[in-house]
Amino acid sequence: MAIQLTRHTFDAVIVGAGGAGLYGALELAKAGVNLAVLTKLYPTRSHTGAAQGGIGAALGNLEEDSWEWHAFDTCKGGDYLTDQDAVEFMCREAVETVIELEHLGLPFSRTPEGKIAQRRFGGHTRNHGEGPVRRSCYAADRTGHMILQTLYQGCIKRNVEFFDEFHVLDLIMDQGAAHGVLAYEIKTGALHLFETKGVIFATGGSGRMFSITSNAHALTGDGMAIALNNGIPLEDMEFFQFHPTGIYKMGILLSEAARGEGGIVRNHGGERFMQRYTPTLLDLAPRDIVSRCIYHEVREGRGIDGKDYVHLDLTHLGRRVLDEKLPDITEFVRTYMGLEPATQMIPIQPTAHYAMGGIPTDKTSRVLAKADGAKVTGFYAAGECACVSVHGANRLGTNSLVDILVFGRQAGRSLKEDLPRLSFSSIADTKADQAIELLERFRANARNPHAEPIGQLRDEMKRAMMDLCGVYRTQEGLKQCLRRIGDLRERIRKARIMDVSATFNTEILEAIELHNLINLSWVTAAGALRREESRGGHFREDFPKRDDAQWLNHTFCALKGNDLEFSSKPVTITRFQPQERKY
Ligand SMILES: Cc1cc2nc3c(=O)[nH]c(=O)nc-3n(C[C@H](O)[C@H](O)[C@H](O)COP(=O)(O)OP(=O)(O)OC[C@H]3O[C@@H](n4cnc5c(N)ncnc54)[C@H](O)[C@@H]3O)c2cc1C
Repeated sequence: MAIQLTRHTFDAVIVGAGGAGLYGALELAKAGVNLAVLTKLYPTRSHTGAAQGGIGAALGNLEEDSWEWHAFDTCKGGDYLTDQDAVEFMCREAVETVIELEHLGLPFSRTPEGKIAQRRFGGHTRNHGEGPVRRSCYAADRTGHMILQTLYQGCIKRNVEFFDEFHVLDLIMDQGAAHGVLAYEIKTGALHLFETKGVIFATGGSGRMFSITSNAHALTGDGMAIALNNGIPLEDMEFFQFHPTGIYKMGILLSEAARGEGGIVRNHGGERFMQRYTPTLLDLAPRDIVSRCIYHEVREGRGIDGKDYVHLDLTHLGRRVLDEKLPDITEFVRTYMGLEPATQMIPIQPTAHYAMGGIPTDKTSRVLAKADGAKVTGFYAAGECACVSVHGANRLGTNSLVDILVFGRQAGRSLKEDLPRLSFSSIADTKADQAIELLERFRANARNPHAEPIGQLRDEMKRAMMDLCGVYRTQEGLKQCLRRIGDLRERIRKARIMDVSATFNTEILEAIELHNLINLSWVTAAGALRREESRGGHFREDFPKRDDAQWLNHTFCALKGNDLEFSSKPVTITRFQPQERKY
């Protein structure tokens, strides 16, 4: 089948309409730049809209706070793998960003005096760990929803051109610089080539590689996988965060705000077991620690009825707090579990939540081509698909919303600043060949009744990653995981879809997404096998200690032919020397 390419030309193209993409778009639109935003989802369905708990910024509205304490907590929470220059920049900018959002009209929850309300969140402390501090700014438990609506309205007001339900398949590079993207129009199956001077990727996370996850179906790491495929390395992919409070067996998130408001995790005996592990921060210790403690309790036979879950107890908070501060998540519990959180305990287990790794950038959101700091001309990344790195080995709650806004806006600013030096390149139709070949292969396999369905492969990938590359990891398990993923990389070449139509063919896109996830699983498991230490979200039972002498550095992993090539980048340390992480 001959494939028609429709061409478009814009000075700037943004892929992704979550918080990061929209803030970048707003910044460019304000400067009058001719831009397009491409998104595979309708913009307000982006995962940012699911963020519940809040956005961290040291406003100090309820008690003393400072951006420097916020920076300290972020570095310590990240087990000292954060680049501290970027963290300082983010924590300073956070304050102004939240105020800008307020001025854009975001309806934050308020204190009685009318200031933006703030609440506690895991790992956020006063004066370098003395005790918890109220730093998370929130709009009930719908903070992300409000951010997304506010930014989307801002973009509409400034006439930003959106290409909704355009699924980006490839980045077009020429002589090491980004010059465009290839997209598949979901409604018609038509292919579109966007020629541009600069591209921002803001495509979000990749949690769908695990079987239990809080992530929406669309979080398949497309941007990261496309970058990898174009010779750009990925950074720190072995660090994946498991959030302690996912609804049992479903993974649906119950925000940390539940514990911020006073919720307690209990084992079979009803014991508040975090007392034994982190006596200062208790249930509000960072997520990697609470998740491991839950696994530990379960292994020791103290899961509920000996099973693989524990309880989240909100019964003592009272209906008023639940209704006012946690209305959405309590409703989830009623809907999905048939339980009443005001009177009954909630079964929970750790759920795959957040990719600390991603496309490497510096603190100006410009993408790095190599560990030595060389940049890719015309290419920017921000939000969960990027690794700045401000979360290091473990992200603190509320720090992703800060990250997507600060660095999304920064990506817009950097691209605007670079525009006079960037140019178009004439792109040959053949640049689309690789992506077209993949689509055609899936279509051709549909005629083969013996080919495996893609759903089967997806299940196997998720199980392998969850069981062998999850909260606890070992050399043996990771090797087995890599064998299984290697096998899936072969089998997906021959896998089949059922639907070959052009109109709204979501199945063919699911096949492409799975292809992306398998490649990212490969990089994640290979990085985890290589890193022989335990730090933040990466825990090796055979190397249970953090090893700064060998491993205080970032992993860079690039695709070379049919292999992965690893290198390391030093961590930037400015004011906080690595110490033991006690809470
Ligand atoms: C349930 C839940 C609750 C959370 N709560 C909080 C919280 O309270 N505080 C906090 O700080 N963080 C929270 N997080 C994390 C945070 O919400 C996310 O990390 C963040 O919103 C990611 O924003 P983003 O802009 O990078 O990507 P997203 O909002 O995920 O948007 C990605 C965009 O990319 C587009 N896209 C992706 N692939 C393609 C493609 N191939 N072609 C075209 N478009 C594409 C999508 O259409 C979408 O518009 C939560 C996450 C979850 C899952």
